[in-house]
Amino acid sequence: MKCKRCRGKAEVQLRHHNCAFCRACFIVFFQRQVQRAIEKERMFTPEERVLVAVSGGKDSLALWDVLIDLGYQTTGVHLDLGIGSYSHISTEKTEAFVQQRGQRLLTVRLDDEGAAVPTMTAFTRRPACAACGTAKRHYFDRVAIEQGFPVLATGHNLDDEAARLMGNVMRWRVDHLAKQSPVLEATHARFVRKVKPLFRVSEYETAVYAFFRGIDYIVDECPNSVGATQLLYKDALNRLEAAMPGTKLSFVQEFLRAGRPAFTVATVDPPQTCERCGMPSFGAVCSFCSLRSEVQAKQASKRATLG
Ligand code: AMP
Ligand code: ZN
Repeated sequence: MKCKRCRGKAEVQLRHHNCAFCRACFIVFFQRQVQRAIEKERMFTPEERVLVAVSGGKDSLALWDVLIDLGYQTTGVHLDLGIGSYSHISTEKTEAFVQQRGQRLLTVRLDDEGAAVPTMTAFTRRPACAACGTAKRHYFDRVAIEQGFPVLATGHNLDDEAARLMGNVMRWRVDHLAKQSPVLEATHARFVRKVKPLFRVSEYETAVYAFFRGIDYIVDECPNSVGATQLLYKDALNRLEAAMPGTKLSFVQEFLRAGRPAFTVATVDPPQTCERCGMPSFGAVCSFCSLRSEVQAKQASKRATLG
């Protein structure tokens, strides 16, 4: 099989694009796909400083690699979630990338904030992924605002977006469907724009890119994600994709073009400011701070019982 661009020997075949590439041309193709998504969806400009959320996984490290190569102004933000050796390795891989590429990284250790994921789940009834999601949303916005970044980029890829779309459709979560987009504008002075520059490239393409670029990433999935419904949807979509190449891309693209406008509902912004952390909130205290104070209260009462 020959490379579509240079006619040399192809190393990767992309059935959904009906073509194949050699190593060097695939890298160019991948980076162009990302650049096109950034420009077409007006995610950010070369003049804007971009905060990149890096977990140490292949997607976010590949994203950061592309943005550096394309000449965008980036800084990384990493949350050490405190999930045992999984978090340990994630942080190590992120820091190794930063060292190698001479980049700037902001790290938040949730344990230092009294909000390590295992602590939040042990002391509240919240499922791990819900608590973790609340903490991520809180710190991504907060770090971006405090450090003056107008935009936050995450490594969500086509498979993530297709699985999320399937989940939202399965339950007809119309409010979620209205907001599912590769670009979410800041709707509040203390929120920042959220963008997903990898939304058109598949998990497979991202893995190939990371491999070709020699990026060392954490291969393990989060131990809490075992059995997550998101993985079931990904599996179902992969089976559809194998039988009908291009299914995932058209599912997401056509949703954005034709489906989403039908779901547009007026979004309600948090009307208040959290009295503890100053972030937007629906009540006197935001959902993250109330989760954290629930943890603190339970920890204190446990200590009192033991002491
Ligand atoms: P996930 O929800 O784990 O699939 O991750 C989706 C995206 O969120 C990743 O591509 C990253 O951009 C970001 N992300 C996830 N976990 C972290 C973390 N611990 N620190 C920083 N960013 C993260
Ligand atoms: Zn708060």
